[in-house]
Amino acid sequence: MLDHCAREGLAAIPFGGGSSVVGGVETRIDGDYRGVVTIDLGRMARVLEIDRASRAARIEAGVLGPALEDQLRPHGLTLRHFPQSFEFSSLGGWIATRSGGHFATRYTHIDDFVEALRVVTPSVSSPRGACPVRAPGPRPTACSAARRARSA
Ligand SMILES: Cc1cc2nc3c(=O)[nH]c(=O)nc-3n(C[C@H](O)[C@H](O)[C@H](O)COP(=O)(O)OP(=O)(O)OC[C@H]3O[C@@H](n4cnc5c(N)ncnc54)[C@H](O)[C@@H]3O)c2cc1C
Repeated sequence: MLDHCAREGLAAIPFGGGSSVVGGVETRIDGDYRGVVTIDLGRMARVLEIDRASRAARIEAGVLGPALEDQLRPHGLTLRHFPQSFEFSSLGGWIATRSGGHFATRYTHIDDFVEALRVVTPSVSSPRGACPVRAPGPRPTACSAARRARSA
């Protein structure tokens, strides 16, 4: 899909839960794009792996809050990220917007829970790498720095 968008000069806009309040999923675009493709991630909704000992999970980006918790619960786990839009927003949307879970205490931002990301764009597909977190959120540039450090 992203290859097609790049070839045809189309803007690709991911759609998670669509709860953005700042127009993030709207098809208003700047630049020389010939059109827009909205990519609905709703079917990428699975928890793929769980590492019970590390309390870590590999999860597809399109899963909405309740479905995510339903899949973690049988393992005695919770992501414990509860924005007010919990029912209608997705893991990928939370990470892209660096959301805050105001219905929890102490660690409330999604940044606190992201250990690694795999990011795909029309020009780049990053391997899954550790993403150190700073105040502004997970840093893709630091992911590559970490990879370089590991391979050195
Ligand atoms: C009633 C209500 C309550 C809310 N409460 C909160 C709250 O408590 N805390 C808070 O932080 N926010 C809140 N929000 C804002 C919104 O819910 C969050 O920003 C949420 O993180 C968006 O997730 P989403 O899945 O709906 O993303 P979408 O609206 O689908 O997308 C948001 C942006 O992220 C991009 N995106 C989505 N998925 C991906 C992906 N997989 N990969 C790359 N980019 C992606 C989209 O292209 C878009 O630019 C609230 C909104 C509403 C309407």
